[in-house]
Amino acid sequence: MLEIHDLHVSYGRVEAVRGLSASVVPGRVTLVLGANGAGKSTTLRAATGLVPADSGEVVLDGQPITGMATHKIVRNGLVLVPEGRQVFAPLTVEENLVLGGYVAKKEQSSKELDRVYEMFPVLRERRRGPAGLLSGGEQQMLAFGRALMSAPRAMMMDEPSMGLAPAMVESVLGTVRDIANSGIALLVVEQNADMGLEIADDVVVVARGEVVFSGPAEQARSDTSVVRAFLGEA
Ligand code: ATP
Repeated sequence: MLEIHDLHVSYGRVEAVRGLSASVVPGRVTLVLGANGAGKSTTLRAATGLVPADSGEVVLDGQPITGMATHKIVRNGLVLVPEGRQVFAPLTVEENLVLGGYVAKKEQSSKELDRVYEMFPVLRERRRGPAGLLSGGEQQMLAFGRALMSAPRAMMMDEPSMGLAPAMVESVLGTVRDIANSGIALLVVEQNADMGLEIADDVVVVARGEVVFSGPAEQARSDTSVVRAFLGEA
């Protein structure tokens, strides 16, 4: 189980995250919604050690991981799929995947690679080609695969559907659901509230760094006006 308790993060004097709490258990998806600049990416970056937190705690399966170096956090079982996918375009698909497994134990690596290829057959087909030649949707699969190579127990995803053709969005979000169903705890930031709500179990809405709604996705789906108001779309 992944828990974020009362997280505070600042950039200089700008308080980007002000007391945010969220949690997710294995097999489930917690969706984080919020307008631009609400502090969603900062939350994910702080939880994975990419920016320092001022205070608060991140706990994975009972173990505090706050303040650890990112590679240690990954080794402990929490991995981030960053915004914009950030695959290494000139490297082959397989090289990108192997890099993702770099922090995991070596003997695990080929087992994880097989598992990733089973989940994403297209990556196996394209494994010897440069990652930069994949379509946007395929690059997102590669970003998922690279993260899965570290055999995580919890994953955070920053806007996995961003910049994808509408037809691809549904398929990528379906994959997000499949990843959760494989027993991973998933915290997913999405701009696309309607699509995100379809695959979410729980929802956290963030405004100006604070949680303004937290509850089951069913509740957010049946009363979309609540979520839209919080997102400033009403
Ligand atoms: P978006 O959807 O636009 O990525 P977000 O909800 O993820 O938005 P953040 O990117 O976490 O929001 O930004 C939260 C606040 O922190 C914003 O006011 C933003 O301007 C500020 N901020 C983000 N990154 C930095 C940085 N590197 N330096 C200074 N301020 C930053």
